Amino acid sequence: MARRIAIVGAGYAGLACAVELADAGYHVEVFEASRTLGGRARGVDWEGMTVDNGMHILVGAYRETLRLMQKVGADRTALRQKTLHLEFPGHVKVAALRLPAPLHLAWALLTAQGLNWKEKIAAIRFMQALKKARFRLPRDITAKQLIANQPPALRRFLWEPLCLAALNTPVKIASAQVFLNVLRDSLAADRAASDFLLPTVDFSRLFPEPAARFIEARGGQVHRSRRIHSLDELSGFDHRVLAVAPYHLPALAPQIPLPEFVWQPIATIYLQYPEAVRLSFPMLGMASGHGQWVFDRGQLVGQHGLLAVVISGAGAWQTLSHEALGQAIHREITVLLPNLPSPHKTWVIEEKRATFACTPNLSRPATATADPGLWLAGDYVAGDYPATLEGTVRSGIAAARAILGQS
Ligand SMILES: Cc1cc2nc3c(=O)[nH]c(=O)nc-3n(C[C@H](O)[C@H](O)[C@H](O)COP(=O)(O)OP(=O)(O)OC[C@H]3O[C@@H](n4cnc5c(N)ncnc54)[C@H](O)[C@@H]3O)c2cc1C
Repeated sequence: MARRIAIVGAGYAGLACAVELADAGYHVEVFEASRTLGGRARGVDWEGMTVDNGMHILVGAYRETLRLMQKVGADRTALRQKTLHLEFPGHVKVAALRLPAPLHLAWALLTAQGLNWKEKIAAIRFMQALKKARFRLPRDITAKQLIANQPPALRRFLWEPLCLAALNTPVKIASAQVFLNVLRDSLAADRAASDFLLPTVDFSRLFPEPAARFIEARGGQVHRSRRIHSLDELSGFDHRVLAVAPYHLPALAPQIPLPEFVWQPIATIYLQYPEAVRLSFPMLGMASGHGQWVFDRGQLVGQHGLLAVVISGAGAWQTLSHEALGQAIHREITVLLPNLPSPHKTWVIEEKRATFACTPNLSRPATATADPGLWLAGDYVAGDYPATLEGTVRSGIAAARAILGQS
């Protein structure tokens, strides 16, 4: 008889776990408190238009996420593949060509605009030294310490934005080792690993919806709007996987010890301009204020004239009202697009607990708990990666494999 597995939470971790187990012939039931699937990566309605709770990007190194997307029959055109392109207009542009690794990176650094030869060589030497050390540090330090000897332009326009985007943690408190894990698997791996994968659909449609169809087609169930209040509700199951954020865990399983996570926010500011407004590239860096990256939803999702600006990590922007932040971001965009009219409408989505702060030597809980039938999955569970979709999916797969390994 098929083993019965309950999974609490239909974010990317819970669904990844459910897909693997359903594929192995297990009877899976997923319980999700919300009507919408995807958790912290989901589509939300904005006056009849679907946007995301936060703009996300994937990179080619998201091997397991891509594998599961393929397994559940997700539409591969839902991700637009672009070679590495880091551009802060008027400052720095680092863009790779479709060359075999490591030529793609060497090309990108050697032909970078806005960096002088000394800076280009310093970046190449830095990567070479990291590679020689196999991207391992004898002991963890902060990313700020790691890049302290790099020239200021490289710190400001390359390493700091990359670290903040990947770890959602400012360099002064970010784990250098986790940052190196990300660099090892993206910039320093094969060319495709550093490609940007930009979504052309919302994040509920990208993986969670096809994953739910895959599970249901194999006899499983995905219960929406179904909050679990106590593990007693799941007593009929052989295994239970808690795939909720750590701040929801104590209500379900207070006996599981958790470290004191510090939370980092992410804000996404949507600004609707006339349809003809577009950027020179779907994703550009911003160098003059609160905004860090601006996305052209017209080029990506067909929502013409809609720009989305992302701010990762804690900062001065948090002292502003949403209205003042929207106005400030509009002014910052006019640096990139002069003569821009005021937006018709603006929406600020602030995820106050977007991800845990990925600090040095952070001890994260394991997949297994003291109870042999109770498992954890989620972006905060121990692993190589910071709180990213790939780290999340891998944690779900790890929980599934642990259960399969017990059978
Ligand atoms: C704004 C923002 C931008 C981001 N950008 C990126 C990016 O560009 N690239 C990237 O790789 N990562 C990004 N991330 C990180 C990524 O989204 C998260 O790491 C990931 O989505 C976490 O997934 P999860 O499954 O671990 O948890 P969650 O997504 O939090 O899922 C947990 C689910 O459990 C449900 N739940 C909780 N309690 C219960 C209960 N008692 N009963 C039933 N259900 C319950 C919740 O409703 C939720 O759906 C971003 C995150 C945010 C917030």
